[in-house]
Amino acid sequence: MNNAELVKRDLSVVWHPCTKMKDHEWLPMIPIRRAEGIWLEDYDGRRYLDAVSSWWVNLFGHAHPYINAAVQQQAQTLEHVMLAGFTHQAVVELSERLVRLTPAGLERCFYADNGSAAVEVALKMSFHYWRNNGRAGKTKFITLENSYHGETLGALAVGNVQLYKDTYAPLLMQTISVPSPDCFYRQPGESCASYSERMFQPMREALERHAEEVCAVIVEPLVQCAGGMRMYDPVYLKLLRAACDEFGVHLIADEIAVGFGRTGTLFACEQAAVSPDFLCLSKGLTGGYLPLSVVLTGDNIYQAFYDDYGSLRAFLHSHSYTGNALACSAALATLDLFEQNDTLAANRSLAAAMAAATADLGDHPQVAEVRQTGMILAIEMVKNKLERTPYPWQERRGLRVYEHGLANGMLLRPLGNVVYFMPPYIIEPDQIAMMADVARQGIDKAVAD
Ligand SMILES: *Cc1c(COP(=O)(O)O)cnc(C)c1O
Repeated sequence: MNNAELVKRDLSVVWHPCTKMKDHEWLPMIPIRRAEGIWLEDYDGRRYLDAVSSWWVNLFGHAHPYINAAVQQQAQTLEHVMLAGFTHQAVVELSERLVRLTPAGLERCFYADNGSAAVEVALKMSFHYWRNNGRAGKTKFITLENSYHGETLGALAVGNVQLYKDTYAPLLMQTISVPSPDCFYRQPGESCASYSERMFQPMREALERHAEEVCAVIVEPLVQCAGGMRMYDPVYLKLLRAACDEFGVHLIADEIAVGFGRTGTLFACEQAAVSPDFLCLSKGLTGGYLPLSVVLTGDNIYQAFYDDYGSLRAFLHSHSYTGNALACSAALATLDLFEQNDTLAANRSLAAAMAAATADLGDHPQVAEVRQTGMILAIEMVKNKLERTPYPWQERRGLRVYEHGLANGMLLRPLGNVVYFMPPYIIEPDQIAMMADVARQGIDKAVAD
């Protein structure tokens, strides 16, 4: 088998996610034969450094011996059992550990099997909580501009990346959208903290005006990832938590992308010292092995559903693979690795190395900004640096960086004009240097004409 043979078979039967399939008439697809650590290897023997953690899911590298062993052992004991009326050791242990590790007040774990499904669970639970408390008039959600919460209709409705959303607009519930605290738009000389604080005003006004009809505010804490790795200051989350309490509205933290150490702390909410009413986790939860997601919430929410059968207050939501045992075993092994390696401390020096390796790019004439939060570093290409005019999307500059990366053994998959690194935590300093070099050359090429 070689690349060309498998690609040919693929193109006659597979429809790929988030892909303009016609591009594959000229853009090669890469069939991966095996992977180990940070490397992916194709059928022609070429290797690619996975600088984006295979869409942000992989934390400790591919085919990790420890996670492999845990999943294999689980497979020999119990691969899956339905979680309604039944339970198993892996899901109990995982829940105990998540309750211990997440911010205070999150005491109950409700499982689903992907990030979008977790967002749906949180939205429905919030709405249903208010309904169970005689507040059926609360039917709306507040969301930030440029936010992303997944692709299913409810998750899409509370997201705000127009590229994914516009087409389906007629199908989506109405939400209340407020400007983002995204520090890219701060004034020259203004600090990120002061900008994010200033940008809380429209959120406060929306809460004042709409609290009676609003169930919850949903945010991606600290980094709007799919929206171009746009970042904001923790002060915003602090203000938001206080205002949600003041106005009687839930706070949903979607840490599906930023959870599990990406931002420098195990969970991004910790940097603002806040606890959300609902915390959505997925992606890194299983170290990038198996689909699993969870919504954590507090006892006050749980109790609003805890009643006799006849009261019809229960949360009757399920997915077939809810709490899958293999996925839970991968998650437990992933949490072990965090403890065994003091990953958060090690990541601090990796993050510093990423900053050092890209420091010069801030002066690049076609780079508006190099920004970083922990293990996420983003480089924003612009047509005009002074005015921060973006390149028109039709020019597909990011795609040129992607192609340059592949030709040079690197998986970089820019978001529009934003080139970013979100590597597995096992990346080594010389690989960081390589990642920065390939990105720098790719950017030079992409902006050359
Ligand atoms: C990826 C992502 C989701 C959706 O998760 P899926 O597993 O792809 O459905 C939701 N929210 C955020 C912040 C994400 O990054």
